[in-house]
Amino acid sequence: MQRHADFAEFTEVTPTAQIAQSRHGWRAKCLQRLIRMELPVPRTVALPFEVVRAIAAGQMPDIEGLAAVFGEDFVVSIRSSAEKPEWGGPGTILNVGMNDRVHARLIGTHGQEAADALYLNFVQTYATQVARLDPDMFHDEPGPGALKAALATYRAETDDDFPQSATRQLIEVLRSMARGWEGTTARLLRQAKGAPAEAALGLVVQRMALGIGPGLSGSGTMQFVDSVTGLPQITGRFRGQSQGRREEVGALYLTRDPRGASLEEADPDLFAQLCDFGARCRVRLREEMQIEFTIESGQLAVIDAVKVQRSARAAVRIAVALAEDGIIGREDALLRIEPRALTELLHYQVDPRGARDPLGKGIAASPGAATGRIVFTSAEAQASAARDEACILVRRETVPEDVRGMHAAVAVLTERGGMTSHAAVIARGLGLPCIVGCADLSINTRERTLRAPDGRVFRAGDTITVDGTNGEVLAGVADMMEPALDGEFRTLLHWADTVRDIGVRANADTPDDARTARMFEAEGIGLARTEHMFFDEDRLTVMREMIFADTAPDRRAALDRLLPMQRADFIRLFEIMAGQPVCIRLFDPPLHEFLPHDRDGMRELAEALDRPLSEVTRRCDALSEFNPMLGMRGVRLGVTVPEIYDMQARAIFEAAIEASRHGAPVVPEVMIPLVSAAREVEIVKTRIDAVASAVKTEMKADLTYRLGVMVETPRAALRAGEIAPHVEFLSFGTNDLTQMTYGLSRDDAGRFMSIYVSQGVYEEDPFHRLDVEGVGELLLMGAKRGREARPGLRISVCGEHGGNPESIAFCRAAGFDYVSCSPFRVPVARLAAAHFAL
Ligand code: PEP
Ligand code: MG
Repeated sequence: MQRHADFAEFTEVTPTAQIAQSRHGWRAKCLQRLIRMELPVPRTVALPFEVVRAIAAGQMPDIEGLAAVFGEDFVVSIRSSAEKPEWGGPGTILNVGMNDRVHARLIGTHGQEAADALYLNFVQTYATQVARLDPDMFHDEPGPGALKAALATYRAETDDDFPQSATRQLIEVLRSMARGWEGTTARLLRQAKGAPAEAALGLVVQRMALGIGPGLSGSGTMQFVDSVTGLPQITGRFRGQSQGRREEVGALYLTRDPRGASLEEADPDLFAQLCDFGARCRVRLREEMQIEFTIESGQLAVIDAVKVQRSARAAVRIAVALAEDGIIGREDALLRIEPRALTELLHYQVDPRGARDPLGKGIAASPGAATGRIVFTSAEAQASAARDEACILVRRETVPEDVRGMHAAVAVLTERGGMTSHAAVIARGLGLPCIVGCADLSINTRERTLRAPDGRVFRAGDTITVDGTNGEVLAGVADMMEPALDGEFRTLLHWADTVRDIGVRANADTPDDARTARMFEAEGIGLARTEHMFFDEDRLTVMREMIFADTAPDRRAALDRLLPMQRADFIRLFEIMAGQPVCIRLFDPPLHEFLPHDRDGMRELAEALDRPLSEVTRRCDALSEFNPMLGMRGVRLGVTVPEIYDMQARAIFEAAIEASRHGAPVVPEVMIPLVSAAREVEIVKTRIDAVASAVKTEMKADLTYRLGVMVETPRAALRAGEIAPHVEFLSFGTNDLTQMTYGLSRDDAGRFMSIYVSQGVYEEDPFHRLDVEGVGELLLMGAKRGREARPGLRISVCGEHGGNPESIAFCRAAGFDYVSCSPFRVPVARLAAAHFAL
């Protein structure tokens, strides 16, 4: 090894030593902090990154000097110390230095059995991890003869005696660990955890506290909060006569326990000392730590401390508690929680501690988990719900008629579709666990079976579990954890609200959605999709009558029946939102979606309307389109069948006046969908203004409303400068805008999206994370042109991207006023927005 005058090859870890996490790794730094707190940490030496790298390349530091720190006949442990704990590293090697001489000495001080066990442990570890001999030859349990046998096997396999020189052992162990870090598997593993390609390893050499010997001896870990709930609770383990290896037995409970002896009873003082260490670590290290300790003949040593492993819900509790105790600041608490992790708290989750029996994997389209019996149609789902039986709606893909079935189901599973397919969007809105694009499973709706790749066949009525958080379908029932919308969750989000600088609204169509939006403290509704209000049985019939009306008076008669229903819908939304803004989008989908698709349905409709079947069939054919997504929908319907928008505008205005009479004043926002030309807006606006004047006069009331345009076509973004003067706000519907910018069907792209992403054609599913380069440019252009033409124009995003953290970052940087997303994504959006503002 080249000797450098300007840096030490190793440094004894003392309170004042130069130890840096960026050079010696997290463990060395953490041990120094423990030493500064005067915890009983055994003598420790840190090897920096550059030295470990040199060792891997075949050089050796001053081993004699290193050994001299530990004196004659030392026994040490060597542990890895990467810059970040999550990057891992080669496993710890204990008892380095054990040889015949130390063994003989330990027989005198610790007894034959303990000395044998310690030596055997090292021979086994060295043989398998350093000399790379077959582990099967070295698995003997400690016992008379085991040590001798292991030494003999070592000699036979290597043609050499077990190394007796402690320095040679040190050299070999250091080299083996340094090289282990450079291996391809290790590199891939840590890169998957976010480590950069050049991530380096430090090593920590520490005098062993043996844990085996006379008197109270053993090793254990102790933490002061529960890893799953985050609630204060002492947990951990202690094993007498052990060195903390997993396979060791002889557990002693940490705290008093009716099932057996405990450390707390065995040595109350020592136990109290450990509790005190935990409390001090929490304050000084500003974190909930798990303490690793060893007791050697009643003597306590703290050998390590690591951040307590934690579930998302525990992470929130821990961060809030630390901030409330004044140990960390609120901003720090916010930054410690990964926004996406919050979704875990909002839903039931499959308990990670339970067993799983996976059947297949698809796209995790809506988080949460649910168990239920398989149903293949919406009618079965409704029947099942009527029997109070939890069911999972399994479809190849869903269509608007399935919304009823989705309401009745506890989860949804589809074979086709992507992140913005019908099933995915509706399920997220309902907070229903959902997996789409699960091509692993083949669904046969005629035979009513679901076939797994391993050949298992499930039928209607069989029980499965949908884990919408990770996209896995599981056989049978799984253990569940409940949602955790507790005080700490709310507290954290209130702190987030005080720092974020972009608004967060919810997309909500129904009173239930609106209540969920309120529960998650959205700042209003950014998108109420009114067409979802027409699929209820009673309305569907009237809607169909309206579509079939031959004359204007007939059409008006049908719309007059829809008017009070719509008005009641809006009054409920306004009441629930209690004066917060509510943005209502006028009718969007093509009319044919309301018509039956098969012969039976058409016959039923013919009966209901008392018209010949041939006429019904003809009308259905006439309305059907080759490409309905690009057809007569949105404002095109508003221009060609204007009475529908007239009715909706009237319902909105009457509801606003009505709701304002009893509660907070309502200023409704009315949004025109799928605009591509300014003239469309002019035409619709003229009629809406006329309706508003009429309603004001009729109801003798004042009314303020805001008109806006939904920018969902590239042309609307390009011509925003012409559109903006007519309206007060623009809201980007990035689902359709992505579809139209890419020329990519949002309902079908799921079939090949994973191939496109894996081959790097798209970095991410653009329906999931906003494509900032393409669609994003349209957003920036539209916002700029719009605001230039109309200063003060409010700009927002209401496509699914509104709930995606990276997309929120883009909207914030672009100066948008708010994002709007499914109610269940509101908490994530609030926290993500705060992160970007910090
Ligand atoms: C959109 O297109 O982004 C949007 C919000 O509307 P929808 O998903 O209803 O088409
Ligand atoms: Mg749209």
